[in-house]
Formats: sequence, structure tokens, C-alpha cells
Amino acid sequence: MKLRKKIVAGNWKMNKSISDGQDLANGIKRELAENCDVDVVLCPPFTLLKSVSDIIDMTQIRLGAQNMHWESDGAYTGEISAGMLRDLFCHYVILGHSERRAMFGETNQVVNRKVKAALARNLTPIVCVGETLEERDSGAYMKIIETQVRESLEGIGDDFEKIILAYEPVWAIGTGRTASPEQAQEVHAGIRAVLTEIAGKDVAEAIRIQYGGSVKPANARELFGQPDIDGGLIGGAALDVRSFVEIVRAAI
Ligand code: PEP
Repeated sequence: MKLRKKIVAGNWKMNKSISDGQDLANGIKRELAENCDVDVVLCPPFTLLKSVSDIIDMTQIRLGAQNMHWESDGAYTGEISAGMLRDLFCHYVILGHSERRAMFGETNQVVNRKVKAALARNLTPIVCVGETLEERDSGAYMKIIETQVRESLEGIGDDFEKIILAYEPVWAIGTGRTASPEQAQEVHAGIRAVLTEIAGKDVAEAIRIQYGGSVKPANARELFGQPDIDGGLIGGAALDVRSFVEIVRAAI
């Protein structure tokens, strides 16, 4: 089995003023000054990308965005493109987060267009999938997640190894109710089995799958200790230096 480097990303969502965001990024930078064997990514809102980019310059911490449009430019009021994110030194972009799917109508097909556009500009997409509570209770959650994975990643060919997946059960996001390590591991292993069918065993073994959904310092270590969980996508706990840094350390 290939050894996958863990990756912990903070999704700040629509939070933090410029000065609060700078304080947060500076605090994280101070605490993680020494190189650790985990990829760390900060995904602030668009308004903070430039400031955070300047703060983490020359460190091991990388910058990510929370969304983008699939076109490179044009009359798309309010949107921002992959090239624009590269201009700001972004390396990652979160795509298909459940909040975008539920509140902004993003389908697997939309996510797929964005994934392709991100890859074309050398941005690493963090592709989110996950079931609602209703879908979990129906028992058909793995089938739903499989469809999300297959359709969101359709036709990306040789670029498969460049993507990151995030399993985020919708019922665990921002609710304080996390999936148990066993529940999360079951789905992660299921996703890896789907990836094996699509891209082959070697590629599937190399792809990192993050868990997201109420990850906290108290539960991070056990979640990250599961064989198919390769780090976390962190929401609420990423807004505080101490809790985010503790979660990163739990991945070491
Ligand atoms: C998220 O929105 O990606 C997330 C995982 O949020 P939280 O950690 O707050 O549940």
C-alpha cells in the first residue's frame, strides 16, 4: 500500500474580516513554523486570499479557495476563475461543498466542469461528496456517494491522481454530530473501491480522501487513524488558531 501524506484544510466559509483573518493566518503560521509531515491548506473567503497569501508566503502552508467558475473569463457577474485564483497563488480549490450543492444548486455536472477547469489551470480540486441524513437513514448512502464520485470526476483521465476527495456527511457538518470513525472509514473504503474501478488500484491507493464534519481536537486523532482517512476538511474548528493547530498535530 502506498503511504499517503495526510492533508488538513481549513474552510473558513464566509467568516473573518481582513484583520481577524490576518490574525488567524499569522497565529497558524507561528504555531506551524516548523515543517511537519502534513499538508496544511487555508481556504479563506475571496476577500482574504491576497492577505493570507502574503502571510504564508515562504512557508509550508498552502492557499486554497472555496469555489470558482468553470469558465476562464467573460460575462459571469460575481464569479471568479481558476486563472484568477492562480494569480493569487492558490494551489487548491474546494469544489462541490454540500453548502454549494444545497444552497446554490450545484449538481455533479456543474462540479465536474469546475474540476476540469481547475485541473487545466494546475489547481488541485478538493472534491466534496456526502449524503444527507435522509439518505443515510434510507440505507442507500453508499450508492448516492458513488454517483457523486463518478459524475463529479467523469472524464478527467490522466489527471485522476491530482485530485483530493473529501467525504463530508451533510448531517455532520456544523452540527457537532460527527460520523464515528467506523462510519467514516466504511465510506472512505467504499469511495476507494469506486476509485479503483474507475482509475485502477495504484491510482486509487494514491488518492487522498479527507473526512469533514464536526472534526474537533477531541475526535481528530481517532478519525485520522483510520486506514482510509487521509486528513480532514475542517469548518468551525478552523476558525480558531489553537483548535486548528491541534487538529493538524493530530494528523502527524
Ligand atoms: C465543512 O463545512 O467543510 C465542515 C466540515 O464544517 P464543520 O467542521 O464545521 O462541520
